[in-house]
Amino acid sequence: MKPRRAKRVDVLIVGGGPAGVGAAVSAARNGAGVLLVERQFCLGGMATLSLVAGLYTQWSGERRILGGIVQELMDAMIAGGNGREICVPMSAAPSVRSSRTEIDPEAYKVLLERTCVAAGVELLYGALFSDVVMDRGRVAGAVVDTKSEVLEIRAEVVVDCTGDGDVAAAAGARFDKGERESGKLQPISMLFLCGNVDVERALAFWANGSRPLLQEACARGEIPMPSMAIHNPGWKRDVIVSMTRAACDGTDAGALTRGHIEAREQAHRAFRFLKASFPGFEDASLVATSAQVGVRETRRIVGLYTLTREDILETRQFPDTIALGAYPIDIHRAEQNDVFFEQVARGDAYGVPYRCLVPEGVDGILVAGRCASATREALGAIRVQLMCMAMGEAAGAAAAICAAAGLSPRDLDFALLRNALSAQGAILE
Ligand SMILES: Cc1cc2nc3c(=O)[nH]c(=O)nc-3n(C[C@H](O)[C@H](O)[C@H](O)COP(=O)(O)OP(=O)(O)OC[C@H]3O[C@@H](n4cnc5c(N)ncnc54)[C@H](O)[C@@H]3O)c2cc1C
Repeated sequence: MKPRRAKRVDVLIVGGGPAGVGAAVSAARNGAGVLLVERQFCLGGMATLSLVAGLYTQWSGERRILGGIVQELMDAMIAGGNGREICVPMSAAPSVRSSRTEIDPEAYKVLLERTCVAAGVELLYGALFSDVVMDRGRVAGAVVDTKSEVLEIRAEVVVDCTGDGDVAAAAGARFDKGERESGKLQPISMLFLCGNVDVERALAFWANGSRPLLQEACARGEIPMPSMAIHNPGWKRDVIVSMTRAACDGTDAGALTRGHIEAREQAHRAFRFLKASFPGFEDASLVATSAQVGVRETRRIVGLYTLTREDILETRQFPDTIALGAYPIDIHRAEQNDVFFEQVARGDAYGVPYRCLVPEGVDGILVAGRCASATREALGAIRVQLMCMAMGEAAGAAAAICAAAGLSPRDLDFALLRNALSAQGAILE
């Protein structure tokens, strides 16, 4: 049997994606002793593990809507020459304009680690959440399995940043998954890194004139979808390409295995198509497929409030708003093989209330990121990475305040959280 050890911290963060990093840094800066456990061996989640290197969105038109840790990290990426801010029509829906920060995933890994370490966050990699610790019906920690030992970690507050809501679901929190009636999920995708690309020609053709080529190739079955996205943080010869899609339940180990195999086959096939037919890729090489497929949706934990499509489209504000968003509703529809968008007016922004981070019926735990409480449509808007980081920032600050005061997250006086978030530069209205 593996050795088993107990450990105690103020705040435990499970998952080191954008939500987890935001939560860990924020909790530590608010005075908590923080442990972040991550099953992989780097931070960043989708941006690093899955090469999703375009991060939405700090802006609504000319208006900055995310500040705090998001702004600090994105400014640092850009100042270091490892990122750039672009405002683009989105490939699948050219009428939709949105701003995203394109980042170099390798530089991002290092920046996130340095930021966590400087804030005093303890990191533990290769640590897979395996069970929840309950104490009198309340979440009191988590068990993680590592290479060397099984660790039972007790915490005043746990923040579930797994994207899938693994911890909250294990604790018995109610959740929805995919489309309510059918259970259908958005497809997964595997992005890939190409080297030796004539970047200028590739980007110019992608923006102007690639649609017929992609549609015809898709109709012939050469590529799985009739559109593609290209990420480039300013590289001269490399690009990251997104043009695969497969059906998969990201909470099912067998389905995930099959999904990786299928998506990797698609990525290799798509690369062969690009090399043969897409201007700028004539001499390209396929450098790497992403370490992990990108999972768009799984569980949405039901919280004290569930954000809706109307909240997004009517850009509603809340008394307990913790972050602002402007990214449109964006749902990849497997059956139509397209992406469905519903846009927010330029310059407007919707609020995300703190209550979306507080699971209904289970105490001692907050959720942040892709597993927050929202309808499927609303999640299609707030699942983007910088919004997930902002939700994490709020959950981390809330967890630190609750841990220090011995409070339940649901009993937190929002004025305390508002003050903490404002002090760290978050934009709340
Ligand atoms: C193909 C694709 C394209 C996308 N395009 C964009 C885009 O262009 N721009 C944008 O901003 N957003 C995009 N998104 C959305 C965005 O990337 C995600 O919604 C966002 O990363 C979610 O953040 P998160 O922190 O909640 O989860 P994740 O980024 O998934 O991070 C979760 C972390 O938790 C870890 N973890 C999970 N389970 C466990 C466990 N049981 N134990 C321990 N660790 C665990 C994971 O390894 C990971 O590091 C895209 C998503 C996909 C899938």
